[in-house]
Amino acid sequence: MRSIAKIELQYAHRFYGFQGEAMYLHGHTGILTIEVEDDVTPKVNMVFPCNEIKKIAWDVLRNFDHALVLREDDPLLPAILTVYDKQGIRNGHPLNKMKGEAFVTPLATAYPDCRLVVTKETMTVEGMIKIVYDLLKDKLPIVKLTFSSGVNKASQCYDTCKHFERCPICGVVLDERGKCPKCGWKK
Ligand SMILES: [Zn+2]
Ligand SMILES: [Zn+2]
Repeated sequence: MRSIAKIELQYAHRFYGFQGEAMYLHGHTGILTIEVEDDVTPKVNMVFPCNEIKKIAWDVLRNFDHALVLREDDPLLPAILTVYDKQGIRNGHPLNKMKGEAFVTPLATAYPDCRLVVTKETMTVEGMIKIVYDLLKDKLPIVKLTFSSGVNKASQCYDTCKHFERCPICGVVLDERGKCPKCGWKK
């Protein structure tokens, strides 16, 4: 069976070099749907508690919320950083509290202190799915990702998913020592 969780992300981006309106900086509310699949854990009667999916995903995806997403070769990137520098907000601000964990993958690098994500490829809905899968594939048994942004939408299914050992009491993934991070149950 599948558990399905939804996450909303508000971000600004542009398609550098694109022939169309998207060459200009603009913003969206993006909706990411994460589908995970496994057996139903009998005691909780869930595959995966949806709030746990959200929590795991949100830890890294928060980097895309109220953030600017630019491709690594976009000349706006140094221009924006110069402004952030002058304003003293490039390396953080006391009110920039809702930060995600910084990450570096072959497809994207997150700079939570200035709410910026630098991508290797243009962040289309398809591009975002590749980035998200890369970030979450070792944390959740993902079988499908869907991302919509404005009128654009893409989805990708994954046939093979890693098996995760989960807590029989609350259904969350056990840590490396076989302990449940939520209720403390031990294997
Ligand atoms: Zn857009
Ligand atoms: Zn537990």
